[in-house]
Amino acid sequence: MRDHALTRPARRGLAAAAVLAVLVLAGFAALRAIAPPAERADSAPAGEFSAARAFEHVRAIATTTHPAGSAANDTVRTHLLEALRGIGLTPEVQDTVTIQGGTLSASAGGAGLARVRNVVAVLPGTDSTGRIFLVAHYDSAQVGPGGNDDAAGTSTILETARALKAGGPLRNDVVLLLTDAEEACLCGAKAFVDQHPLARDGGVVLNLEARGSSGPAIMFETSEGNGELVEAYGHVPYPVGTSFAVEIYRLLPNDTDFTPFREGGFQGLNTAYIDGAAVYHAPTDTAASMNRDSLQHHGDNALALTRELGGRDLTALEAGDATYFPAAGLLIRYPGTLVWPLAVLALIAVGLLGWLVVRQQRATGRRVALAGVLTLIPILAAPAAAQGLWSLLVLVRPEYGGMPIDPYRPLWYRLAVIALAATVVLAWHALLRRRVGPAALAVAGLGWLAALGLLLAAVTPGGAYLTTLPALAGAVAGLIAIHVPDALAVVAIAAGAVVATVILLPTVVMLFPALGMPMAGVGAFLTVLLGLALIPVADLVHPAAGGARGMEALRARHRGAAPTLAAAVALVACTATGLAVDRFDAAHPSLTHLMYALDTDTGTARWLSEETDPQPWTAQYVSAPPETVTDSLPAFGDERLRSGPAEAASLPAPNLTLVTDTRTGDGRTLRLRLTPQRTARFVTLHIAAGTTVTSATVGGRPVGDLSGSAGGGWGFGFVFHAPPQDGVEVELTVKGTDPVRLRAMDGSDNLAALPGFRPRPSGVGVLGSHSSELVAVAKTYTL
Ligand SMILES: [Zn+2]
Repeated sequence: MRDHALTRPARRGLAAAAVLAVLVLAGFAALRAIAPPAERADSAPAGEFSAARAFEHVRAIATTTHPAGSAANDTVRTHLLEALRGIGLTPEVQDTVTIQGGTLSASAGGAGLARVRNVVAVLPGTDSTGRIFLVAHYDSAQVGPGGNDDAAGTSTILETARALKAGGPLRNDVVLLLTDAEEACLCGAKAFVDQHPLARDGGVVLNLEARGSSGPAIMFETSEGNGELVEAYGHVPYPVGTSFAVEIYRLLPNDTDFTPFREGGFQGLNTAYIDGAAVYHAPTDTAASMNRDSLQHHGDNALALTRELGGRDLTALEAGDATYFPAAGLLIRYPGTLVWPLAVLALIAVGLLGWLVVRQQRATGRRVALAGVLTLIPILAAPAAAQGLWSLLVLVRPEYGGMPIDPYRPLWYRLAVIALAATVVLAWHALLRRRVGPAALAVAGLGWLAALGLLLAAVTPGGAYLTTLPALAGAVAGLIAIHVPDALAVVAIAAGAVVATVILLPTVVMLFPALGMPMAGVGAFLTVLLGLALIPVADLVHPAAGGARGMEALRARHRGAAPTLAAAVALVACTATGLAVDRFDAAHPSLTHLMYALDTDTGTARWLSEETDPQPWTAQYVSAPPETVTDSLPAFGDERLRSGPAEAASLPAPNLTLVTDTRTGDGRTLRLRLTPQRTARFVTLHIAAGTTVTSATVGGRPVGDLSGSAGGGWGFGFVFHAPPQDGVEVELTVKGTDPVRLRAMDGSDNLAALPGFRPRPSGVGVLGSHSSELVAVAKTYTL
């Protein structure tokens, strides 16, 4: 009986070792290429970006929490204006009110508005063909100082502007836009797009963000028709971006300032570093938490890209979407029009390989088909097992359930997931290799990659390269391997495996921080795909299949089981190391969510929490099962919260006064003033569901969509972020002349002064949510 593999070199052990060594080297090179560059000192030449210089701004911006409208945010804005003046620019402040449609976290049933103060400065070009906008937000989330989000982007723009000024002027105008109220409602960007004269002609937006504290600055989102911009991005010194990320990003509940620009018809690229996401929006998002190599990465690329685009003709940017991904320090890219031809070519190549394998009697057609079906086992089992592993970790350490994206130190868990996927693939391969045949399994693996390439081409074309190219490379390698001497065949197999590794490994590594451990199954899935592309390599590790008897067969079986065992040991070791390394402590606290709501109608108060399975600290405050609180707090919408009784604090509700009341035919027009009586981050107003509102103007802005409904007896409403001290003017026209019932609420962000609040012990922290530590005071008015 003969061995039915694609290749069977005489010295299999040596061949296996050589190919594995090449693969490890290729893997390391691929990962090095997406690592951030080292921080440059403040002595770096003036024309260069220095993370050390930029970090001085980070320190100034992230001194304390500074949400839109806060006094601390005024201080940050002053710093920005001074810094821009310091490099010879003439910044201005766009001070306006804007409306953002859609439902937001605290505006159930209607509109989100904000007073915003954007900082805008222009570096005029010599012969401008269009504008380049460098955009980042300077406001922070309400419980975190925003050391990364978005002091990273803001400081990058300040240091980039300084470096640009130090060089000569560019051909095109560069507009620096430091936005306000991004965290509240993307309102700063929205206000600029809708109202600022500089936005009238559109342009190219480079938005800079951080959703974590480390990792490469990944270019993860583009406008449509990105071919030319991606080509320009290919000129940055450290390109890290993949067309697959755009598809992944759409799965995530995040939004950035880029959205209003994209929807407003601007072109552009969106970049963020996203690893270390445990600090996201939390009090731990400090300047000290920032990895300054990530800041250097942001800056090196932003500066180079601005210079590149600054010299181009921006009037002719229209192009189709490109496929792109990082490989060996370059950005590989090809037009989207090649996605389908390549996907079909890969399928044909794999089909041809399968046909030849059958014709050469390396496998029967029946066995190739059987292998195809059996390949579903690792494809389905590894992701399921990875999700199971995370569930198990949450069971062992319940605090993980409260981490929104990732644990503090997820590295060992990510490695465990990769080891788990490897264990599944290797065990599956070792068990089936003799029964189904190595060539059949190899062809089936490539067949699945090619088939997925077609599926991705149809569903998410930007991601099709992930499986199409490894399938194509693997099939071509296989076709060569079955026609040349074994020594050369090994080289072909190695080349195919290197292509798969260089393409898939960086994506696996970028995907883990993007989705976090709660979605570890996706990382396991991609690892399995890499495993399927590497079956011919795994095959070399096994002794030749068939023929052996007795002791020889037993030894062969032991050798065949070794890779599976090694992967399983790695799985256990990585999981155990992860549990030992990633403990909760004062610097890495577990994350809890608590709010307080006072109803001045009844003089009663309660604690509220988003935690569905409350942690011990939170459980002291909330005991009731999760339920909606819309009847008394319409701004919370259909969110289900746990609650518990609280002492009533002596806090004043927002004041709602009737300025004028005009009867018009069968209705009334009410002019109202809604004024918080304390320092509030936002104020909301909801109208009883029985009243039909026919028009509404808030802060001078007409509200277009009045169809929203908060539930719990309440209809249309709005949230106004960063309300001025003297309140917000509201004009409502309603049907009928009956008295109108309205519910007013405001919100601030500090539980510490409340009666009955006991400070968190060391090791227990605050969840970076937009409603953490919220103090809400509500009152009903009948007018
Ligand atoms: Zn941000």
